[in-house]
Amino acid sequence: QRFPVVVVGAGPAGLTLGNILRAASVDCVVLEVESREFIEQRPRAGVLEEWAVRGLERRGLAGNLLERAQVHTQCEFRFGGQRHRLPYAELTGQHHFVYPQPLLVTDLVREYADIRAGDIRFGVRDVQLHDLDTDRPSVSYTCPETGRRQVLHCDFVAGCDGARGVARTTLPPERVRIARHDYGIGWLALLAEAPPSSDCVVFGIHPRGFAGHMARSPQVTRYYLQCPPGDDPENWPEDRVWAELQERLGAADTPPLTEGRLIEKRVLDMHNHVVEPMAYGRLFLAGDAAHLTAPIAAKGMNLALHDAFLLGDALVAYLTEGDASGLHGYSADSLGRVWDYQEFSQWLSEVYHGTASGDPYRAGTTLARLRRLFTSPSAATAFAEQYLGMEATV
Ligand code: FAD
Repeated sequence: QRFPVVVVGAGPAGLTLGNILRAASVDCVVLEVESREFIEQRPRAGVLEEWAVRGLERRGLAGNLLERAQVHTQCEFRFGGQRHRLPYAELTGQHHFVYPQPLLVTDLVREYADIRAGDIRFGVRDVQLHDLDTDRPSVSYTCPETGRRQVLHCDFVAGCDGARGVARTTLPPERVRIARHDYGIGWLALLAEAPPSSDCVVFGIHPRGFAGHMARSPQVTRYYLQCPPGDDPENWPEDRVWAELQERLGAADTPPLTEGRLIEKRVLDMHNHVVEPMAYGRLFLAGDAAHLTAPIAAKGMNLALHDAFLLGDALVAYLTEGDASGLHGYSADSLGRVWDYQEFSQWLSEVYHGTASGDPYRAGTTLARLRRLFTSPSAATAFAEQYLGMEATV
């Protein structure tokens, strides 16, 4: 079988890319190791920047999202026992959309497979990429039904298989540079069957460690608790979790958090990496496969969509009009935003974690950064612009 494009991975990046190709009548196939049910339920991100939503809307992919997403216009920092609101929409004219990643993935699969009749193969095993430095690359995999190897010949491979996929590992080490950053901290990522306790995202900056509160839906709230890297989630029984959350997110004139059953509890070791360039021969990487951003600033899904827009438009321009400029510029165009978001995540990480570092110097400079956000309108605006992402027409 021969396809112009084989997309490896059905996350936000791969599915958005597949939809862009199908809308332009470019034939493609999406390969995914998991089942459809699994990817439609995998809980992860939930915060989308306005430019990303507009990019989905322009491509006919935001119908349900625009109907159902909550709009967030401000966030709140709690430190020193007080709450401080930062009205980022007032400062920038833009806002966030809160729409859980599983709902977005469900919409994108439905649009790609059921409406645009795109080819998607779930449950594939042992995906391998071949001959990427030739103009006749191929992708092989083991078919779950027959157990036989299948080979798909193609013009291009899109590596959208996330941080633990196969595409990045196929790159010859001498042809790419991988920049890594390890924050040396962990976050206990929690999903609680409890309504949000605030109408906005809340960041608790506390000497015991960072805590975060993020609405996901009227019934479910995501919480984060800073913990040692590699900590065992079993060290965090429900009582301990809620006691720490109440303490770290507590502030004057604020009712206690509404508690509920924990339906997800896992430890994330905070680290980032960036692959440069994001292309090798006929392979183009997109999303977490190319750059991992710890969920510190809620940027990963937004970057995955940015890549999918750029790469989708570039592949369509090449395959339908022979215009290769988008493909040539793809890596550099993506990396500008990637590095900007990496830098912001690093800045914000110090704000979140400096107070609990045990180092009085870092604690002092962290509090100075925080106070500046609430005393200098230009500092608040600069924060708001970075928190919402640079405006992009993609
Ligand atoms: P993925 O979503 O990882 O998709 C890759 C797909 O490829 C998966 O379906 C995987 O099963 C499949 N795959 C893997 N290997 C193979 C293979 N060999 N062959 C075929 N398929 C394969 N981002 C935000 O913007 N905002 C947030 O608030 C936010 N919160 C987060 C909270 C948590 C707890 C986590 C873990 C992440 C969060 N993120 C957030 C990050 C966000 O979820 C990711 O950046 C996003 O999923 C990246 O999309 P992707 O399509 O690049 O990769």
